[in-house]
Amino acid sequence: LVSRKWRVQPTVLDLGDGVTIGEGTLALCAGPCSIESEAQMEKVMAHLTDHGVRLMRGGVFKPRSSPYSFRGLGMEGLKLFHGMAQARGIKIVTEVMQVSQVEEMHDYVDVFQVGARNTQNFNLLDALGSVDKPVLLKRGISGTIEELLSSAEYVFSGGNEKLILCERGIRTFETASRNTLDLNAVPILKEKSHLPVIVDPSHGIGLRDYVPPMALAAVLAGADGIVYETHETPETAASDGQQTLNFDESARLIRNLRRVFALR
Ligand code: PEP
Ligand code: MN
Repeated sequence: LVSRKWRVQPTVLDLGDGVTIGEGTLALCAGPCSIESEAQMEKVMAHLTDHGVRLMRGGVFKPRSSPYSFRGLGMEGLKLFHGMAQARGIKIVTEVMQVSQVEEMHDYVDVFQVGARNTQNFNLLDALGSVDKPVLLKRGISGTIEELLSSAEYVFSGGNEKLILCERGIRTFETASRNTLDLNAVPILKEKSHLPVIVDPSHGIGLRDYVPPMALAAVLAGADGIVYETHETPETAASDGQQTLNFDESARLIRNLRRVFALR
C-alpha cells in the first residue's frame, strides 16, 4: 500500500493551518533533541517563528543508550510543549516509545515520531495504524530500506495513511561519524513509495559542523523535508549537544535550504 504500484501520485499530508509535508514544498522541522524547560521552548519557538519554520521537534520520552542519561520530561513536558506550540501556530513532532503512550499522548501531538530503536516495534506500529495523527517513521539503526517500507506498511495497512518516511543514518563499520547518512535512500524511497521522505542529518552524521552540508545534499537528492536539532546553547543541551546547531547556524541553514530547494 505504501508502494508507487498502489498509488502513483505522491502523497501530500495536510497538518492544518497551512502546514503541509510532501511533494512540491520543503518541510522544515527543527528543535532540541529533548524538551528541557519552558524557557528553552520559548527561545526555540521564537527562533522558528522568526524564520517561518512551522514544525518543531523535541522529545519528552527519550530513548537513551544509558539509563543514567536524561530521559525526558514525560507527559507533563508534552502538555506544556503542545500548549506553547499551539499558541504560536507551530506543529509538534515528538517520539512515542510504547503502545501505552499512544493514547495518553494523542491529544497533545501533531505528529507521532517512531524512533530508530522502535522501527520494528510491530505492536507500536499496529497501535499507530489506528490513530488519526500523522506518523514520522524513522529508519531503523541497522534497518534496510525494504524493512523501513515494511514497517510503514504496518501503519498504513492498519488504516493510518498519514505517514512520513525518515532517513536518519544507519550503523556501518565507519567510526568517524555517529552514523552513516544514507542519501541513497532518498531517491530510492521516492521512487519506490508515494510517501513523503524527509532526512535527519543531525542523527545521520552526529557532528554539528557537518549537519548543514548534509542537509543541503539531502535536499538536492530529492528530500521533501529536513528535520534537525537546534538549541540556544548546544553545549548545555540535555542530549545530543554535539550534533545540535545554535540559532545562528540554524538561521544560515534555513536560508541555504530554501535557496537550494529553489534550484531543484
Ligand atoms: C531523536 O530524534 O532525538 C532520536 C532519538 O532519533 P533516532 O530515533 O533517529 O535516534
Ligand atoms: Mn537526538
